[in-house]
Amino acid sequence: MQNSCAGLYVHAPFCVSKCSYCAFNSVVKPADTSGMCSALSSELYRRTNNNHLEFQTFYAGGGTPTLLPPEFWAGLVNMAGSESLKEVTIETNPASADAVDYHALLLAGFNRISVGVQSFNNKYLQLLGRRHSADEAKGSLKLISESGFRNISIDLMYGLPGQTPEDHRTDVEETLRFAPQHISAYDLTLEPGTPMGDRGEKASENFCTDMYHQTDEFLTANGYIHYEVSSYALEEKYRSVHNSSYWNRIPYIGIGPSAHSFTGTARSWNVNSISQYESALLQGELPVESSEELTDENAAHEILALGFRNTNGVDLDELAEFGFRLDPNELLQTGLISRTDNLLVPDAEGMLFADFLALKASELLAGSHRV
Ligand code: SF4
Repeated sequence: MQNSCAGLYVHAPFCVSKCSYCAFNSVVKPADTSGMCSALSSELYRRTNNNHLEFQTFYAGGGTPTLLPPEFWAGLVNMAGSESLKEVTIETNPASADAVDYHALLLAGFNRISVGVQSFNNKYLQLLGRRHSADEAKGSLKLISESGFRNISIDLMYGLPGQTPEDHRTDVEETLRFAPQHISAYDLTLEPGTPMGDRGEKASENFCTDMYHQTDEFLTANGYIHYEVSSYALEEKYRSVHNSSYWNRIPYIGIGPSAHSFTGTARSWNVNSISQYESALLQGELPVESSEELTDENAAHEILALGFRNTNGVDLDELAEFGFRLDPNELLQTGLISRTDNLLVPDAEGMLFADFLALKASELLAGSHRV
């Protein structure tokens, strides 16, 4: 019998260099990546052998997963059960475009690619510590399209230090020239311990809010569906199924250093260290650092924190399943959400204020009676 499990996430922890804002678990790619390829294959085998999992989505992230060979990815997609997979995504970085065989990735089973462009302005690319230029980003998008990918997502960042809403608008306009099926536009997060985070370099909050609204207005006017605070799909069918499963708390497995997994009732995460990760698997052990069972309160808070960030919204029935009854009247009075049956759905402004809505709803939950 098959067990349904929405997604498989694979963390490939190597990059060509480290970006100035990056807090992801990634290091500069070593000359030999065969140890990591073996470890990832071994972890997937150990987690799925005898479990008969049926994955709907496969997401290769990192890091820069296109730095690992296409034949490795072909083997992993095949091991994940290529027949059941509907969405198979790989992230890529224009800095490594010359070295990547995109057509081979398509043949390996990937049907969606997410390109970390971030900006089409060389000044901001340098500031972010990206290794590619605007022209290289355009060249790699052309190459990817010519190689046969028909579901391309472009990542952009805004809120960069010194960036004006006009600069950001130029980036969005440039992005639209490629008519991608999906766009992710992220507000720069300052992470402690990164060069930009430690210097506190970011555009003013007012500019960031302006850039968020500008992105929403411009992309929706051009036919995109704004379905998550940072995500836009050209048509319904181009919503990211994999990411949507995170927001809807559907079980997934994560493999690779620091990858997280979710069973529906518990979360677990792997060790960060690449050497510890590889040696655990060489010794025949799963590289899990820790895990936690979720209480009903934890689950309810996750439903609120994730639900107000996307247009699937917060399901009052789902909260009730965990024993909480939420009276939404105060939340509705904010004007940031609307109610359809038992769903509380944020608008664009509501998604921007998702944290506020989740906090407010948590306070209301605290005073609610268990069902
Ligand atoms: S390419 Fe991505 S993962 Fe790699 S260093 Fe830059 S931001 Fe981090």
